[in-house]
Parts: sequence; C-alpha cells; structure tokens
Amino acid sequence: MESPKEIQNQLESKLKEVFGYTSFRPYQLEIMESVMAGKDTFALLPTGGGKSLCYQIPALLMPGLTVVVSPLIALMKDQVDALLEAGVDATYVNSSLSAEAIRERMRNLHEGKVKLLYLAPERLLQDHWEQILQEWEVSLVAIDEAHCISEWGHDFRPEYRQIGKLRTLLPKTSFLALTATATGRVQEEIKSGLSLREPACFKASFNRPNLHYRVIAKQKPTNQVHQLISERPQESGIVYCGSRNGTETLAASLSERGHTALPYHAGLSSEERARNQDAFLHDEAKTICATIAFGMGIDKPNVRYVIHHDLPKNIESYYQETGRAGRDGLPSDCVLLYSAGDAAKQRYFIDQVSDIDQQQNQRKLLQQMIHYAESPACRRIDLLGYFGEVWNTSDCGACDNCQNPREWEDATIPSQKLLSCVFRVAQSGGYGTGLNHLIEILTGADTEKVRQRGHDRLSTYGIGSDFSRKEWQWIGRELIRLGYLQQTADKYSVVQLTEKAIEALKNKEEIRIAKALELKKRRATRSEGDIECDENLFDVLRTLRQSLAKDRGVPAYIIFGDQSLRLMAREYPTDAEAFSLIQGVGEKKAQEYTEVFTATITGYLENHPRHHFH
Ligand code: ADP
Ligand code: ZN
Repeated sequence: MESPKEIQNQLESKLKEVFGYTSFRPYQLEIMESVMAGKDTFALLPTGGGKSLCYQIPALLMPGLTVVVSPLIALMKDQVDALLEAGVDATYVNSSLSAEAIRERMRNLHEGKVKLLYLAPERLLQDHWEQILQEWEVSLVAIDEAHCISEWGHDFRPEYRQIGKLRTLLPKTSFLALTATATGRVQEEIKSGLSLREPACFKASFNRPNLHYRVIAKQKPTNQVHQLISERPQESGIVYCGSRNGTETLAASLSERGHTALPYHAGLSSEERARNQDAFLHDEAKTICATIAFGMGIDKPNVRYVIHHDLPKNIESYYQETGRAGRDGLPSDCVLLYSAGDAAKQRYFIDQVSDIDQQQNQRKLLQQMIHYAESPACRRIDLLGYFGEVWNTSDCGACDNCQNPREWEDATIPSQKLLSCVFRVAQSGGYGTGLNHLIEILTGADTEKVRQRGHDRLSTYGIGSDFSRKEWQWIGRELIRLGYLQQTADKYSVVQLTEKAIEALKNKEEIRIAKALELKKRRATRSEGDIECDENLFDVLRTLRQSLAKDRGVPAYIIFGDQSLRLMAREYPTDAEAFSLIQGVGEKKAQEYTEVFTATITGYLENHPRHHFH
C-alpha cells in the first residue's frame, strides 16, 4: 500500500509527463486520491473544470482497466484520438463500429493491452457485457454526464439505469460519477440511481472566472451578431437562436457577409447535423447558429463566444449554454441580446401551456431570466445566486454592469411625453399601438399609418423631436422595465399605461431611468485567464496547427490547445527543453512536435522582434 504522499507524487508526475500540465485544477487532486483509495466518488465540477483527467490519470496508475460510460457516441472518437496523441492506450466500443472492428478491439481488451475503454451505455443492456466486465479486471468505472440518469435533468437516458446494477456486479471496483449539473435535486438522484456506496462528494465553485458576461439591447440582431463576431474573425463561437428557422436565416445572412457560419437544429438530417458539427469542431466553420439541440457534449475547448440571439427560457439553460465557452480557461464572451419584446413572446408561449402547475413554474423561471437580463447588478452574482452560491464581493470586475455601472438620469419630461402619448392614443379610440408607432407619433413622422388613424391630429404629435428614435426606444423600454408601461404578450406588443404611470402623471412625480446600455466595445481590460502573447506569432502557430490537424484528420485542439499556443507565442521556445516546459506538452507530444514548432518559432524570430511580457 503506498502512502498518500507517494500517490500524490505519482498523480503529479503523470499530469506532467502525459498531459504536460504543472498543477491541478480545484478538486482534481482530491477526486483522484479518493478514486485511487477505492472509494465511490461524486465529482461536481463546472464545464471546463477538467473532469476527464479525474479518471484518465487514475486509469494510468491503477492496475487493470478503466471503463468510461459516456452518452456521447459522436465524441468518443475525438476523446480517444486525443488520448492516443498523448500516448495513452485507449479505445472505444459503440454502434458506429463494424462488427469486425469491434472483434479486433475486444481481442486487444482481452489481452489487457488497453488502459481506458469508452463504452456507450446501451452496451450495458447486453448480458454478455455484464459477464465480460466481471471477467476483466476493472479497477474503475467512470460515469461521465452522470445527470443522464435523472428524469428531471435535461438529458435523461434510460440506459443509465443499468449502471446501478453494474455497481452490485463489480463489488471491488471504484465508481466515479461526474457532472456539471448544479441543481440539488439532480445530485440526489445521481447518488441513489447509480447506487453509489457512501460516495465522497467534491463540489467546486460553479463560477467561471474566465467568462465575461454582458447583455446588450437587441435592436437589429443580425447586424449586432455580425458586429460581435467581426471583432474576432479568427475565433469560434456559438450563436443560440430560439427557433430552427432562425438558425438557418441567421447562418445564411452571416455567410453572405463573409463569415463561415452553419446552422444546427434537430430538424436537419442526421448526416447534415454531423457534417455541420464536424465542420465546427475542425474550425472549418467558425460560427454555428444553433438551437438548444446543439451543445450537449461539445467538448471543443476553444469556443471563444456564446451569443444568445433570443432570450433563454430560464437561468439554468443560460448557464449551461454559456458554459460551453472557454473550457480551456482562456477569456471568452457570453453575450445576451435582450429585448422586452422577446420577454413578451416567451410569456405568450407560456400562456399556451395547458398544465397550470407547469405554466406557473415556467413563468417563475422566466421571470428570473428577465430579471437577470434587466438588472443593473453584477451578472455573476445573479447567476451563481441561482445555484445557491454566495459570492462574497459586490463587484466581479468581469461583467458589463461591474465594468460600466449603469448611471441613472432624470427623464421626467420625456417620460411624461411618452406616457401622455399612450394616454391620448387610447383616448382617441381604436386600437392600441406598439412602441414603434408611438415613437412615430412623438417624433412627428409623416407616415400612411399615422395619417390614416388621425394620429397627426393628437396633441402629442411631434412633441418629441428633441430625441432620436433610438433614444425614445430606450426610454420606452426603461418605462416598461420600471413598470410604468406594460406590453401585451400578443404579437402586436401593444403598450398600455399601468396604475403606477397614472399616479406618476397625476402627481407630476420625478421619473429616473438607467442610462442606455451603449453598444460600444467593452473596456479593454485584462481579464481572468488571459495569456498576453505575441499575437502575430500566435496566428502563425495557429496556421501551423491547422495544417498539422488537417494532415492527421483530427480537430486542431487535439494537437495543442489555444492555451499552449499562446504560451509558445509568449515564451518563444526554440529548443527541446524550453518547449517541454510549455503547459500541454507531454512526453509523447514533445517527441512528435518539438521539431516543427521550434523550427517555426526560430524562423519567425529571424524576421520579427521578440516581445517581452511580464
Ligand atoms: P470538463 O469535462 O470538466 O468540461 P475537460 O476535462 O474537457 O473539462 O477539460 C477542459 C480543458 O482543460 C481541457 O482542454 C483539458 O485538457 C484542460 N485541463 C484539464 N485539467 C487541467 C489542468 N490541471 N491544467 C491545465 N489544463 C487542464
Ligand atoms: Zn460583475
């Protein structure tokens, strides 16, 4: 029996030797130690927290085989490729393989040549697998995406139920359940559903320090998305849309403007889905415009932005979806485009739900989401608060509201103008109108609709020409947010006065609104996780990586992550020793890539000055 200190040393040296990393992420070491001690273990780490290493490193140190149950058949190949690149004997068995290929793999497994086996959960339904696993020496069963056992979670997989049975059949094996799902109810279901034996539980903070959160007022969303991704043309990202149709139109408009964007939704054929997902993973399409059908198990570590074109239904979905950005720990952006109209649309959908309990629940969850979008407080505190996590500062420094605290201003006069305009329109009879039409009246627009309805004869016609339309839009939305106006949830979004507005008009109350969110770029501050480097050299190395990846038919990040490339573009390693010190350079990768990378860097330095970083 080795001492805890010896085990820690072994874990640390594998971390460096095989994966090229020098330190553990929070709880990785504790989780591995617990697994090595033969205990059942439950690991709750956020996306990007480094769950895979928690079983991959113990697999290398424990005798016998580690079995990884993963629901994501499409991803197994990538994960196994990445392990083979790092020199680990890994394989997978799932329905994508021919019978012959499976026989060959089984032979290798019987001969004990494999350390890590990725297995699709439906195999566990086959009796002979139960037998085989009992015959082999299985030291560890790791259950990835363990929340799939929960009927309450978002990805219920009935096959996961078999794992509980396996727990009884393999009494000497340690079981490790891993998930990034943070809600308490699902956690309880995992422990009981998998029949874990008094599991040691480790829960990391769900804060993602390298993610920057912001909300911008949705105006011309296609333009806004275009502008956001034009700021980072070389980077990959996801744009979530509320409808299948939306993903296709957006991908088409972005492509017209010179971006490489593809749609993804459950209505596409499975070949097309696989093709588009692959193009995204291999960096051939930089942007994927997707419904929420996309993402579960997207392990791409260098997703640099997640934009929500439409309002998500609840905070949990928003957290999961934005969580797909920045798994590699480098700074990444989460942007929500928000309009009050979107909120009204979602409310309208909820009104159609027939089950009253469900309807109320969904309404409550939506309310929290709207609060997040409209709140002038720290975004991170709001998000983590939803999962019961208390953040002990008032300013995270990496969200729009912390970086540019919202200022308030006196808007009594324009508010009175807008509110009385709503009043006059209602008084003049006929239909109510939406915000846009009200603004036409205020600014004295000479349109068919205004004339037809006689709105050019209202006393409020043209009294608002001192503000632009955009300014009026903002004032209107603030009055909605602050509860002076309400908007119907039908498609006309008719604006009506509330009691609060009637009181305010009668008593000539002062009305203050938050100053408009500006669409300017965020302040260029260094954010958490950022690695300052020679951007020029980084581009050169990125191109090199892309061509190596193409030759080998693997995604670029399997060669090296962005983090490693940035460190190379900072340290300029030109010999084998310096190269081996870069994070992410393990022994196998050093053998394979030292020459081509150091030669490229040496060549680069012949024509470019060397920058120094602190
Ligand atoms: P998760 O499954 O929890 O979302 P992954 O296991 O995919 O996270 O890891 C995310 C990224 O972080 C991967 O690129 C991985 O190589 C990297 N990583 C994991 N652990 C470490 C570590 N200790 N040091 C540096 N990078 C790490
Ligand atoms: Zn903040």
